[in-house]
Amino acid sequence: MSPLYVPPPECLLKSFTVPRRYLFGPGPSNVPPRILTAGSQPMLGHLHAETIEIMDHIKSGIQYAFQTQNRMTLAVSGPGHAAMECAIFNSVECGDSVLIAVNGIWGERAAEIAERIGAKVNKIVTSAGSYFRNDEIEQALSKYKPVLFFLTHGESSTGVVHPIDGIGELCHRYNCLFLVDSVAALGGSPIYMDKQDIDIMYTGSQKVLNVPPGTAPISFSERACCRIFSRKTKPVSYFLDLSWLANYWGCDRKSARAYHHTGPVTALYSLREGLAILAETGLENSWKRHKDVAAYFHEGLERIGLKPFVEDKKARLPTVTTIVAPPGYDWREITGYIMKNHNIEISGGLGPSVGMVLRVGLMGCNSNKPYVDMILEALTDALKHCHKSKV
Ligand code: PMP
Repeated sequence: MSPLYVPPPECLLKSFTVPRRYLFGPGPSNVPPRILTAGSQPMLGHLHAETIEIMDHIKSGIQYAFQTQNRMTLAVSGPGHAAMECAIFNSVECGDSVLIAVNGIWGERAAEIAERIGAKVNKIVTSAGSYFRNDEIEQALSKYKPVLFFLTHGESSTGVVHPIDGIGELCHRYNCLFLVDSVAALGGSPIYMDKQDIDIMYTGSQKVLNVPPGTAPISFSERACCRIFSRKTKPVSYFLDLSWLANYWGCDRKSARAYHHTGPVTALYSLREGLAILAETGLENSWKRHKDVAAYFHEGLERIGLKPFVEDKKARLPTVTTIVAPPGYDWREITGYIMKNHNIEISGGLGPSVGMVLRVGLMGCNSNKPYVDMILEALTDALKHCHKSKV
């Protein structure tokens, strides 16, 4: 008799298929065939010369997408959260004062990450759907004297794009690093890392870049590197330690790359291709397309009797639109109906916006007018067929 007491699982002995679906939630977005093909190329060793060349191309692609000349530019192996932790774990030490702007879930998450490593976390908080003025930020910088200020560029939980101009300069006046989360906005809304004095910025692969989740571009300014490499203590994470990652990505001045971890080789092929498509499209064209398509969508929403959640038009995130949850309806029934009958994913709120909004993401290749028409048709159909109570 076999000594194995757990038999091979039946479910794994059958083949599996996944449905094709329109991914119009806040991410992941659909992956175009070109990127899928890139990711299915043969496996290479993670330190082979060809892989290193691909990593170098990725670095150049990130520098373009971020508009930065930072040498310390790389992709973390992991989702957006890995980049968030990489940014905070490396730039903050236990006992440091940190300032977090909270206008949705991402500030809350950043605060929790910083708290977990023993930072003194101070927050400025504003309601879902709004953003901060520079004088409010300055007041908090002067009060808390933080070493790091965290801001979300595209708040995907509330649908707000935050103005960036002038904030980096303020941070530097108060001897503070400026950290920006651009997971949900990068490539879809203008940002200039160097020109806007941003010290650390990261994004995710699965939004505008249309790359499968699992790699997260990140970049550090000279100022951030100076601070990070003169820390008194080692970062709590070995995996996310920037000295190791810098060597693995050839961003330090050492000639040889040492083994740190086995990078996600085929995911890097996909990331390379996503960045290549952005480079071919041109950042400015991509920003304009996202803006125009979002405006077309917002007009369409009003036409069918729905209301964009963010009132201030210029604060609407072009990649992820929040819609006021239609009064009298259960938002879960609407998203469920649209999935079942139209094969389209849209989502409800997240964190502070739960129950208040529906969220629709139109990112990268999904940002086009025919898809907007499809979504408007699906929403109209859902409003006709879902249960409506008297309000
Ligand atoms: N920040 C923002 C603004 C996001 O929208 C997301 C993902 N929705 C994240 C961070 C986290 O990314 P991930 O889910 O890839 O960890």
